[in-house]
Amino acid sequence: MNAKILIVGGGAMGTSVALSAAKRCDPLSEPVVLIEKGSLGSGSSGRTGAVIHQGYRERALAGMARDALKVYAGMHSTVGRSVGYRKTGVLVVAGSDKEAIEGLAKDVAMQRELAINVQLVGATEMRRLCPGIEIADDAMGSYEPDGGYIEPRQAIETFAALARAQGATTRTGVDKPKVIVEGGRAVGVSTSEGEFQAPNVVLATGPWTKEILRELGVEVPLRVVRSEEHFVEMPDPPAPEETPHQDDGHADDIETRFRPDPLELRPVAHPVILDRSNDLLVRCEPRQRRTRLGRIGIEGLVELERPEALEESVGDELRAWARPRLNGRMPVYRDMKDLGGQAAWITLTPDEIPIVGPVKEIPGLYVVAGFTGNDFQLAPSIGEGLSQMILEQPVSAIDPAFFSLDRFA
Ligand SMILES: Cc1cc2nc3c(=O)[nH]c(=O)nc-3n(C[C@H](O)[C@H](O)[C@H](O)COP(=O)(O)OP(=O)(O)OC[C@H]3O[C@@H](n4cnc5c(N)ncnc54)[C@H](O)[C@@H]3O)c2cc1C
Repeated sequence: MNAKILIVGGGAMGTSVALSAAKRCDPLSEPVVLIEKGSLGSGSSGRTGAVIHQGYRERALAGMARDALKVYAGMHSTVGRSVGYRKTGVLVVAGSDKEAIEGLAKDVAMQRELAINVQLVGATEMRRLCPGIEIADDAMGSYEPDGGYIEPRQAIETFAALARAQGATTRTGVDKPKVIVEGGRAVGVSTSEGEFQAPNVVLATGPWTKEILRELGVEVPLRVVRSEEHFVEMPDPPAPEETPHQDDGHADDIETRFRPDPLELRPVAHPVILDRSNDLLVRCEPRQRRTRLGRIGIEGLVELERPEALEESVGDELRAWARPRLNGRMPVYRDMKDLGGQAAWITLTPDEIPIVGPVKEIPGLYVVAGFTGNDFQLAPSIGEGLSQMILEQPVSAIDPAFFSLDRFA
């Protein structure tokens, strides 16, 4: 099979690259093909909390998150398919520590310069936005009313379906890809399903990227670590008059406006809480009637030699760490049942900024990897930026130097 652009990996990044590339390529003379070894979303992307917020510390990432949020929020009204965007609001709790408050204030000022809708909030406002929260009187935080989450598998299926509608091909169950290099250039990929020829090959293979590049003699400073998340029963939402946070369900979703789905529209119990003072993420999942708890930071996460070494069963450690923090911050959870946990891969670079762009040693080969535990939300900007780069169009969606693999040279 011949392609203009061949993408290996069907997670958030691969499907987003496929969509953006397909929009720019003639399906007959310049086909875009995506191959995936499992099913779409079977890597990190299928296990993410998919919180959408623009609270990055780096200006470049905050701007991309702002642009991506517009794509997610307007998807249904512009292209007729939803990614399950819920505008629940995102509350960041800095706590009472002076340094943490100053850092947050600096970030919020930068984000506001980028026209991001976010504001600093004191204890009284936090109590109003998040009824039932326990917070010291001198604590500070920030609130982003347009933040919330998307449904990750729905988003991936949507990217892939839209890419196919633009003429792209997506093939699942295609394994053992080996990048074919001729005359020093990438010219395609041989797989369990035969050979795919393409002058442009994109590795969007998440945790598996390091091994694939190593086989080609290219070393990249990626590390794969194991992270865990824990689930608890979601409490009943407060009465509507007590919920000033803007959970208006699928405000942009025409389908649910005319054909309400009670499960979809079930309100969340509170906004997404990024409790930096406790290192705790709390995100309601009303479809599953549960709340997801995870660590915000990456300290102490155990490195995996190979992605296959991921231990799926979870012990009691995260639950024992997270529950007292949650119960202290949101006492309404004290009587809620534990519902188990899950493990997942996180792929890290040394500076926690992803790698997006060409592999200089092998012209025609591109890599998109290292998206930590935050960056699902950047997928639309990454897809667009990489497609522009490959097709030698002016790159407006990302700053290529910022993401370049060369920065580690
Ligand atoms: C627990 C957790 C929580 C997170 N929470 C958030 C959040 O709240 N908000 C946010 O924005 N981000 C979050 N993230 C980050 C987000 O999930 C990742 O940034 C994103 O999933 C990265 O997508 P990807 O496409 O690069 O990788 P992946 O989703 O891992 O995709 C790689 C794909 O490549 C395929 N593949 C690998 N090798 C081959 C091969 N040889 N041949 C063919 N196919 C192959 C895999 O099967 C897989 O489907 C979280 C991540 C985790 C783990």
